[in-house]
Amino acid sequence: MKVIVLGAGVIGVTSAYQLAKAGHDVTVVDRQEGPALETSFANAGEVSFGYCSPWAAPGIPSKALKWLLMQHTPLILRPKLDRAMLTWMLQMLRNCTAERYAINKSRMLRLADYSRTSLADVRAETGIGYDERMQGTLQLFRTQQQLDASAKDVKALAADGVPYDVLDRDGCIRAEPALQHVREKIVGGLLTPKDETGDCFKFTNELAARAAELGVRFAYGTNIKGLSEEGGRVSGVATDRGWLSADAVVVALGSHSSLFLKPLGIKLPVYPVKGYSLTIPITDPSRAPESTVMDETYKIAITRLGDRIRVGGMAEISGYTNDLCSARRRTLEHSVSDLFPGCDLPKASFWSGLRPMTPDGTPVIGPTKVAGLFLNTGHGTLGWTMSCGSARLISDLVSGRKPEIDAADLAIARYG
Ligand SMILES: Cc1cc2nc3c(=O)[nH]c(=O)nc-3n(C[C@H](O)[C@H](O)[C@H](O)COP(=O)(O)OP(=O)(O)OC[C@H]3O[C@@H](n4cnc5c(N)ncnc54)[C@H](O)[C@@H]3O)c2cc1C
Repeated sequence: MKVIVLGAGVIGVTSAYQLAKAGHDVTVVDRQEGPALETSFANAGEVSFGYCSPWAAPGIPSKALKWLLMQHTPLILRPKLDRAMLTWMLQMLRNCTAERYAINKSRMLRLADYSRTSLADVRAETGIGYDERMQGTLQLFRTQQQLDASAKDVKALAADGVPYDVLDRDGCIRAEPALQHVREKIVGGLLTPKDETGDCFKFTNELAARAAELGVRFAYGTNIKGLSEEGGRVSGVATDRGWLSADAVVVALGSHSSLFLKPLGIKLPVYPVKGYSLTIPITDPSRAPESTVMDETYKIAITRLGDRIRVGGMAEISGYTNDLCSARRRTLEHSVSDLFPGCDLPKASFWSGLRPMTPDGTPVIGPTKVAGLFLNTGHGTLGWTMSCGSARLISDLVSGRKPEIDAADLAIARYG
């Protein structure tokens, strides 16, 4: 089958790789000049199979009000007269019940678990390297209140069968020796040892090269204009460089997926939630993290990626803008220099990306009302983590094969 994948982020490239392995004739189209140059470029680097849950959770609305008043806030809200923004926020609020949270989390965990084995298979098949490490995520608590509040996370991890360790101060320092320099700031931590880390940009580029070896064509520098249908079935894609015919199309346009689908009468509740990151060269490895340290106070992830530290976080609801705000940079710098003093902040590069967020936290994977048109998008906070499982799933669905995990409740049909 002739399959066109729209988007060369981590989701589009992993999809293309699996579709090529399944024997399809695959073309990937992207406006950028290479893979992973938008949201997949400089994320926080966590491959966090265990630390995987929706942002919409019971108690979040009241916490959000407190966060909005913090100096180094993890949440920034810039309301606009934008119907899509307001609708999305209301839908998010509706997902903050215990019942919805449990359903959404179980969907995310199912996909994350499948992604764990799928990523391991991709590594074994291709041998690609991406500054990967398998040393877990350490959620770091600076106050007794945070440690006490983690009891419910511990209960949830136990119920979901996710391995974990509750650590005291010394335990945290054993896991992350550089924290010894700030031991008085630490009360304890929660380690999910099966989590991994790695550079999403490097991974996506390496995998794109392997996909090209399997015959995948990449049309970079190409703007996608729209979709053509014949008799309710997809027939091709219009671009600024001409028309491409297709038997099937996979939409993996990240935050832009909903804008692309709107003219087709498909309402996809994916909205951009901006995040920021810093990438800092390591000058003294003994003062750098070993894996991911999640600073619970500011909700900022600090990850070792080879000879660099990646510091990422914050949720800014401000529409489709990648503007870099210096106050956000100060928050990232504050968190990382407080826990890992001595890092070379003047040499850091600052970046922002738009997380393609659904209101229920779960991506949208599966068919649409247009025959031959499939979605693999809306991976929000953990797209790198969930990419490899999502790709296998979409490849099975496009190929008409029964997926290895339940997929019906991941499709757009779940929104009614
Ligand atoms: C600060 C931050 C930290 C994060 N940390 C983590 C983390 O630690 N772990 C994790 O798992 N996830 C993390 N994420 C989330 C993760 O980065 C995203 O979920 C993931 O990158 C989304 O991938 P994607 O392929 O869907 O989107 P993208 O990477 O944005 O790819 C979409 C592609 O579509 C193309 N495109 C869009 N419109 C058009 C058009 N009209 N024509 C042609 N091309 C088009 C774009 O050029 C782009 O290449 C983080 C995100 C942010 C912002």
